[in-house]
Amino acid sequence: MAERPNGLHDIFTSSAGLPHHGFSTVVDVGNILVVEDEPAIAAAVAARLESEGHEVEVCHDGAEAVERCRATEPDLVVLDLLLPNLDGLEVCRQIQSERRVPVVMLTARDDETDMLIGFAVGADDYITKPFSPRELVARVAAVLRRVADEPSDPTTPDHQLGAVEIWRASRRIRMEERDVHLTPTEFDLLAQLAAATPTVLTREQLLVGVWGYRDGSGARTVDSHVRAVRRKLGDDVIRTVHGVGYAIGDI
Ligand code: CA
Repeated sequence: MAERPNGLHDIFTSSAGLPHHGFSTVVDVGNILVVEDEPAIAAAVAARLESEGHEVEVCHDGAEAVERCRATEPDLVVLDLLLPNLDGLEVCRQIQSERRVPVVMLTARDDETDMLIGFAVGADDYITKPFSPRELVARVAAVLRRVADEPSDPTTPDHQLGAVEIWRASRRIRMEERDVHLTPTEFDLLAQLAAATPTVLTREQLLVGVWGYRDGSGARTVDSHVRAVRRKLGDDVIRTVHGVGYAIGDI
């Protein structure tokens, strides 16, 4: 990534850090799917989570992870970023499109751009290799606790952009009390920009996060979808930042 918007680091330190409010004495346990292609890491992670009382299933590639997630509906997925067949971002996107499932991603690189994109596709937290099993266990417990506190039927939208409301779980857009139909790609584009607010995202970041492209081609694809969203929700909802990319507008 050639350009990195200012303020990226602040977002990560506040969203991805360990909880600041101390640990509760009650630790949630659950069924956890560990997706990691390096057998030694997978075994160590599984053993540590099992010792905390979690039920653990391990799989070693991305396509299998999507299938297992559908079959067993785990309470949380520990998901490696670099996997054979389907990478972690694509796995995250696919499993999140079916139902809300908490995800803690593992990445070999302390790459802030990957983190931002991971959060936009629905990851709840991140941990950079090498990590200590203790840190992973703490992150998993924190995410499970946070999810347990989420209302199952939310009464407020995830993002309010002027008159536009984004409801992530039901993938609905409402404007002035009415539903507005966005295609799945248009929804993901708007939701990704909203999640990153106030950070400006480059076309390249949007391509990777929304379409899963790893190269820099296809900038015009982003532009045409931005135009489509503006046609449906008004020109002000997405702001063009010349020479950088797009951001949510000041509405
Ligand atoms: Ca890997």
